Amino acid sequence: MIEPTHDVARDLVLANRILANEGVLDGFGHVSARCPADDERYLLSRSRSPQLVSEDDICEFDLDSKPMRDFGKPYYVERVIHGCAYRARADVRAVCHLHATPVLPFASAGLAIVPVMHVGAVIGQEIPIWDARDEFGDTDMLVSTLDQGHSLARALGSHWTVLMRRHGAVVVGRSVREVVFRAVHLKLNAEVQLQAQALGTVSPLSDREIELSAEVNLKPSVQGRVWEYWVSRLPDTEPPRSREHGLKTPPPALARTIA
Ligand code: MN
Repeated sequence: MIEPTHDVARDLVLANRILANEGVLDGFGHVSARCPADDERYLLSRSRSPQLVSEDDICEFDLDSKPMRDFGKPYYVERVIHGCAYRARADVRAVCHLHATPVLPFASAGLAIVPVMHVGAVIGQEIPIWDARDEFGDTDMLVSTLDQGHSLARALGSHWTVLMRRHGAVVVGRSVREVVFRAVHLKLNAEVQLQAQALGTVSPLSDREIELSAEVNLKPSVQGRVWEYWVSRLPDTEPPRSREHGLKTPPPALARTIA
């Protein structure tokens, strides 16, 4: 059964807000979903900070990351990360690009993140490290061309996560909820790994433990339980609805300023 697009769009809005609330995304970073009605398209917000994304902001792109219709507002420069991952991997239905602070020491130093705790298994057995310098030399550090996006997708290969040297990471999943689960636990695992390394030698999960633990933790019942928890932690307020350079309904504080 094909999932209705509006259900995926609703989960995508929640995914934006959860990932911001859990400290995985901040003013930057983005999360997308493959379009349920057409595998050659994906859904992604216009250029907006994830905490503020509402259903009005969700746009549709083809796999070359061209918008299906002109939204009349800027898009994320790095959206090619998403289109190229969908083109490379038929099993991928959601993509997250993040610069979560605990991941950055590993991205900066070029050191591997490995599962060091049971739920960390969902980041996968191996996280490759992609360095834009290898193919593209000095750049503005953004992944903004199709060549760069395809190079990053090649580095991701069949894995669930790829580190981007001196920049951040990309996480992929088979659903919006799965990519959120993997991305939050990438951040938590990186935090624990940094702390464990400060204490002494880290003993990561074995390959078989990673396989078994990931299988248990990626069950829909487990993901549903944690999704509900993350939703319950969201601020009560809906994200402001947007109008160009402003808000349709200004929040009280802003309304007072305007008045
Ligand atoms: Mn980035």
